Order: sequence, then structure tokens, then C-alpha cells
Amino acid sequence: MTDTTFADLGLTERLLKALDDAQYTHPTPIQQNAIPMLLDGKDLFGIAQTGTGKTAAFILPLLHHLQADDIKAEPRMPRALILAPTRELALQISESIKTYGRRMQIRQAVIMGGVGKNPQIKALNRGLDILIATPGRLLDLVNQRCADLSECKYLIIDEADRMFDMGFIRDVRKITSMLPKERQTLLFSATMPKEVAKLAGEILTRPERVEIASKSIAVERIEQHIHHLPSAGKRDLLVKLLDAPDMSKVIVFTRTKRGADQVVKRLANEGVDAVAIHGRKSQNARQKALESFRTGHMRVLVATDIASRGLDVDDVSHVINYELPHEPESYVHRIGRTARAGANGIAISFCDAKERPQLRAIERLIKRPLDVVGDAPSEQPARAANTRGNSNGKPADQAHKRRRRPRRFNQRAA
Ligand code: AMP
Repeated sequence: MTDTTFADLGLTERLLKALDDAQYTHPTPIQQNAIPMLLDGKDLFGIAQTGTGKTAAFILPLLHHLQADDIKAEPRMPRALILAPTRELALQISESIKTYGRRMQIRQAVIMGGVGKNPQIKALNRGLDILIATPGRLLDLVNQRCADLSECKYLIIDEADRMFDMGFIRDVRKITSMLPKERQTLLFSATMPKEVAKLAGEILTRPERVEIASKSIAVERIEQHIHHLPSAGKRDLLVKLLDAPDMSKVIVFTRTKRGADQVVKRLANEGVDAVAIHGRKSQNARQKALESFRTGHMRVLVATDIASRGLDVDDVSHVINYELPHEPESYVHRIGRTARAGANGIAISFCDAKERPQLRAIERLIKRPLDVVGDAPSEQPARAANTRGNSNGKPADQAHKRRRRPRRFNQRAA
């Protein structure tokens, strides 16, 4: 946060009141940098991930412009389009618009796959100030002539790198080509793969660039521990860790959907309630799971990487990486779910022998070693699981051998 206030940035009175209602006192760095440029009508290339306050950084100026333009939206012709890679992110953006636009009359709707089209078509027909959409369903509805983007003067593409990962970049290009050339375009991305830079070059006009290093948001404030153990010991360690009273709101990350379901089952066998959220679940099931976690009814959420970006849940006490991700950037996104908006958080990762290369890649990316939990008491259950014998038949002493090498990183044990 900075000394600058939202009023200094030049936002309208209604927005300032809404921010006051939300009890935001000061803009975050990305808000402080981006909002004046955006109010000025500039295009923007923002390198920032969730947790930086980037959603408000793009929504506040958008609402400001929509109010100033004072145009009534025609049926099927939204005035602004926000593209998001996942349904969860689209819904969260919609919630943010409700918060920041609560003192304005803003008509908005979310268009996404996995739910019925008819309510979405009806919403389009009523005329929308802001359309928030995932690319596939939007193209579908455009092709059916239920949506026309030719009056859309504002385009915001959120999490462009995720769009690329999920194979949506072509759809994004196609959609962008349907908008008028005279428009304001914003593109946000947490990382900068070549393809995203190329897309930015094509669709942005003389953009300003704002970069908020992911390192400074997540990694620095989060306590990060690593347990070296054979994969057969992971379940017992997880159960033991979840037993601690400070584990009040925990996201457990797995690499695969099947893995997520398995962890939920294993936890259930041990009497620990958890819900899974991943791409094979229906939209309703995903939303229900997320809601029960958000409201605190369910203490443990087991998620694949689909949920690691954009998920905005307050007070996540711990992130546990049951399996390390293949892409080191995903590690940063995952652990960024704890330590939201100024809070500190704790991330605990499990690493079996096969995952060592992933661990090295992560440590290279964040430029620091994770704290190895060596002889600390919290490791005991893993060892116990190991000495009891495990399903893949690995002898217990291998775990100790494996543990030795990473200790070169262990500042505390050294
Ligand atoms: P985002 O990066 O947009 O996902 O925002 C992360 C979280 O920070 C959300 O829960 C926002 O409600 C919150 N937030 C955004 N801007 C501010 C601010 N200026 N002051 C306090 N909280 C904020």
C-alpha cells in the first residue's frame, strides 16, 4: 500500500464511496500505477497475478469510463468485454464489479460454459454494460448471433498466460477481431511467455506497461516448508498436519484430477472432511465446493491447478502442495492463495524422489531454497508411515538417504 489515496487517482465520487464501503483505504501499487493511465484512455499491458489488487485496477477505470460515456447498451451489444480463462475467475470478476459498481446502475452478466445458454441469451438481449466471458461460450453465442461485439469499446483480457495454457489464444484473437478498432484494450498476464508477448503486440496500441513482480507479492511474505518423503508417506503426513489447530482453512494442491479425488477419499477414510475442485466436476459442483470452503463450512479444499489462479478466498491459513507442479510458476500461483491482501501465509510442500527436478526448478525461480523440515516433529508421521512399510515396497531407510541431499539448502539445519 502507498500514501496515495483513491481520491488522488481521479476516480468518480460514486466509486470512491464504493471503495469506502469496501473499506479500502489506499490503492495497491498496481492500482496506483495503472488507474491514472487507464483513466487517460491508454492501453495497458499488466504483468501481475491475482493478489496484487489487479481486478480493481482494471474495473475501477472501466466503471469510471462507462459512467462518463453515459450510453445505453443496445440489446446483444455489450459496451465492454472482459475475457477470463476460467469460470471461477469470470464469476469472481463479476462479484468485484458488483462491489465496486454498487453505487452505479451497471448491467453485467457472465457468459461461460458448463451452464445453460438461455439465461445468458436473455441477459444479452436486455443490453449489457459489461460482459464477462470465457472465450468458448462467447464464440458460440456470437456464431449464433446472440451477441454482437461491434459496439464494445473496452476490452480486458485477464490471465492471458492461462488463456494460452488452456489453448484459448486463437479464440481470443478471433474475438478481438470482432471488436471495433477504436477501443481501449488491457491485457493482464502473470507470466510472459512468447505467445502472450506476441498477442500483446498484435492487439494493444502503444500500451503502457505495469509490472508487479510476483516475487514481491507472494513469495516474500509466505513461510515455505518442504518435506522430503516417499509418495506413500504423503497421506499420513497430510492427515497429521491437518490435525494441527492452526490449520483453519487449507487448500491442498494435487497435479491431477484423479489425484484430487483420491486425496479427498483418503482423507474421508481418516475422518477428515474435504471437497475437491477440478475441471472434471460440473460447474455447479465446483461452485458449491468453493462456496462451502469460502464460507468456512468446509475446512479443506483439494484442488488442481485450475483453481490455483484467480481463486480469491480470504484467510487461507495454509497451502499444502501434496504434489509439486510441473511448471515452477504454478508453485508461485498456488502459494499465492495464502497471504492474500497483505496477510502472511504458510505453504507446505511434499516432495518425493521423482519430484526433485521440479523442486529445483521452483527454487531457481523464487531464488531461494525452501526450508526443509528435517528433524522437526511435524515430520515424524512420514517417517512412521515409512517404517511401517508402504504400498510401493520401498525400504524405510531410503527416505533418509533421499532427505540428505536437499539439506544443502537448509539454512536452519546448517
Ligand atoms: P486481486 O488481485 O484483484 O485478486 O485482489 C486481491 C484481493 O485484494 C481481493 O480480495 C480484493 O478484494 C483485495 N483488494 C484489492 N484492492 C485492495 C485495496 N486497495 N485495499 C485492500 N484490499 C484490496
